[in-house]
Amino acid sequence: MSRTDHRKPDVSALRPRSQLIHGGTNRSAFDETSEAIFQTSGYVYAAAEEAEAAFANDGMRHVYSRFRNPTCAMFEDRLAAYEGAEWAYATSSGMAAVFAALMCQLKAGDRIVAPYNLFISCLVVIRDIATRFGVEAVLVDGTDLTQWEEALSKPTTVVFLETPSNPTLDIVDLGAVCELAHKAGAKVVVDNAFATPVLQRPFEFGADVVIYSATKHIDGQGRCLGGIILSDKAFGNDVIHPFLRHTGPTISPFNAWVLLKGLETLDLRVNAMCAGADAVARFLEGHPKVARVNYPGLDSHPQRALIRRQMTAGGTMITFEVKGGKDAAFATLNGLGMVMISNNLGDAKCLATHPATTTHCKLSDEDKARAGITPGLIRLSIGLEDPQDIIEDLDRALSKA
Ligand SMILES: *Cc1c(COP(=O)(O)O)cnc(C)c1O
Repeated sequence: MSRTDHRKPDVSALRPRSQLIHGGTNRSAFDETSEAIFQTSGYVYAAAEEAEAAFANDGMRHVYSRFRNPTCAMFEDRLAAYEGAEWAYATSSGMAAVFAALMCQLKAGDRIVAPYNLFISCLVVIRDIATRFGVEAVLVDGTDLTQWEEALSKPTTVVFLETPSNPTLDIVDLGAVCELAHKAGAKVVVDNAFATPVLQRPFEFGADVVIYSATKHIDGQGRCLGGIILSDKAFGNDVIHPFLRHTGPTISPFNAWVLLKGLETLDLRVNAMCAGADAVARFLEGHPKVARVNYPGLDSHPQRALIRRQMTAGGTMITFEVKGGKDAAFATLNGLGMVMISNNLGDAKCLATHPATTTHCKLSDEDKARAGITPGLIRLSIGLEDPQDIIEDLDRALSKA
């Protein structure tokens, strides 16, 4: 409890950008301006009766940091306020969030439907791990509503999707898929990492659970791993929290603090990255060595109308196909100067990846072809550099392809 608590703003009445600065703030008795790091695993009690009551109420009194921690709670409450979610829990990584959000609700005999165009680890969890426990996994082309319709004509437990997808930036129709999923009795889990909470609000289209790899744009400076799961209060408390509480994919207070501070600049950073991505995509679209550019902000994107309906900008990620296959893609990557070769994304630094040989190397050649992960494909995560420097670097690199 802080002596200044009576001066705390009503966060629900603030505009979204202000919520990213003030949401979830919980000052200690020292009245600090910047949020405190509560680097503690446990908590003490004034009397045995107080400990008994804390466990009986199973709620707001901190008892153990695997369940709740004041710094982690500030991160959770701040993003929940911005996202318009009633409940949130931060995890040690994005994959911990994906795994928990799925496995907390699946049992043998259940059915999960998802696009095959997913971040590779999400695909492995669904296709290879969940199925070991007797769950049926059905994979569809996420951009094709008739495939969704067919897959969801049977009772289904969970629908999982990413939009835009990693790395090919396929767009899934959130509203239409949520409607089909709910008719099939399924809960919809949306991995919103690529769109970020700034550009796309899946709950408004019917999503039941939203997860993030906070490692990406929420940190935004490549410093730590983290994840977060958001949902309504009933599903969070009754289904997700018991699973998390006993399986322990908890985030550390320090990493939660880094991500909490990352939220304060998220809107600024993501919008600046989008403006940069737009300029870079336009440059690449006119380049003679480039066979095709995929950027959701371009008018040439085949799903442009859908993108306008569900995203407020094109995002921070671009993929493009260099003419000449793998050799040309490698020559381009090796010719880069300021732009670095890395498989991470969402960083302040512009990063270039060759998905076919790195992030998605575990896919069979057939699965790569089906997903559009071709030998000449390069994925760019636009950073906060001057877009003109990124363009000049790419132009020099492409001249070597
Ligand atoms: C990176 C990523 C993840 C996994 O997050 P980690 O923090 O690396 O565990 C999940 N989904 C998508 C779309 C990602 O880009």
